[in-house]
Amino acid sequence: MLKCDETSGGCGYEGNVPDPVTRKIWCVKCGRFYLASKEEVGEEPRTLKTTHKSITGAKRRAVLLRSSGFCELCGRRDQLQVGHLVSVERGHEYGLTDDEINHTENLCAMCPECNSNMRSEVVPLRVALVMIRDRARRAGQ
Ligand SMILES: [Zn+2]
Ligand SMILES: [Zn+2]
Repeated sequence: MLKCDETSGGCGYEGNVPDPVTRKIWCVKCGRFYLASKEEVGEEPRTLKTTHKSITGAKRRAVLLRSSGFCELCGRRDQLQVGHLVSVERGHEYGLTDDEINHTENLCAMCPECNSNMRSEVVPLRVALVMIRDRARRAGQ
């Protein structure tokens, strides 16, 4: 609330300006600190789109490099896309942050076919197997 909200003990003054980074507002009239909502400081509310958009180019490159050109799920050499193991939709549902959803551990280089199969299930068995095998291999090193 840009307005110093009376319902939570504020004075009702409407001319306060939030800090764009911390979203904190200091009421110039009554000296109270309160928090603006993300929408109020001009940040887009979180959607599937904004989470997708927040995958950086560097992360995409790192994932593609890790795959060395092969689909990480089926091993086929194809035009690779970067997809999510736990989908953005599920991630939001389970309360994961965008950083967690877009972590390179949750990103995977996959062929178009695997990528489109990923949308239908929570984590398909095939993907779970790839993940387990990968972790076991790393733990064994
Ligand atoms: Zn106030
Ligand atoms: Zn594949």
